[in-house]
Amino acid sequence: MDAARTGPVVPSKYWHGRPDGRIQCDLCPRHCRLREGQRGPCFIRACRQGRIVLTAYGRSSGFCVDPVEKKPLYHFLPGTPVLSFGTAGCNLACFYLKRDTSVWLEITHLIIPGENGSPAEVDAMTRWIVDELGPEVPIHFTAFHPDWRLRDHPPTPPAALHRARDIAQANGARYAYTGNIRDFAGENTCCPECGTILIGRRSYAITAWNLTPEGGCRNCGAPCAGVFEAGPGDWGPRYLPVRLRDFGAGPAT
Ligand code: SF4
Repeated sequence: MDAARTGPVVPSKYWHGRPDGRIQCDLCPRHCRLREGQRGPCFIRACRQGRIVLTAYGRSSGFCVDPVEKKPLYHFLPGTPVLSFGTAGCNLACFYLKRDTSVWLEITHLIIPGENGSPAEVDAMTRWIVDELGPEVPIHFTAFHPDWRLRDHPPTPPAALHRARDIAQANGARYAYTGNIRDFAGENTCCPECGTILIGRRSYAITAWNLTPEGGCRNCGAPCAGVFEAGPGDWGPRYLPVRLRDFGAGPAT
């Protein structure tokens, strides 16, 4: 790709022509077969002049610096800021989706009443996570609010989140949390061995830190899964929008 380019439309590399005259995009498993002028369901790749082009190069849907806890990531450098950004376009078709990339894995399950939060569903999912990914993968059960889509659904009752967390813990998950509600107990990281609060949280602020510099429990020494420094960061709940223009980078289009 031409690094000097500033426009949003650039040729893409992964496509081929088909005998029926359509152009097949080979970038993702949808393998869209497009005619001239059509675009894929991702909205940002289209067939123009007999080839597949990307129509959103350099266009970000938002850049900001957030607390890492907001992702939510609770076991990756607690208290530190993280740069978040997204691009326009997606080849998936989810109503709600959060995508965070990290060297550390944590799973977030948004519980939408009547859709995906029954005890049987949570039981099956958390059994699978514990069996296949391991008991040390943190699981976040977060509350749905009918602010955008699915407005005919009620908000998630806190009891459903508490129940999900209980089920996960009963199935062996060592770190299960509630989110998008006020639930201080569900925000804290506790030692799976002795119950000591290892990392206390109030929303995005770190209120207690009982990890050794090596990432173990100060009380019993059991290791806590995650990526930690000797102490927590002090970023807190700050939200810092980033304007790329301030750095002289990125197209203005
Ligand atoms: S969804 Fe977009 S990226 Fe995926 S194959 Fe179709 S056009 Fe290409």
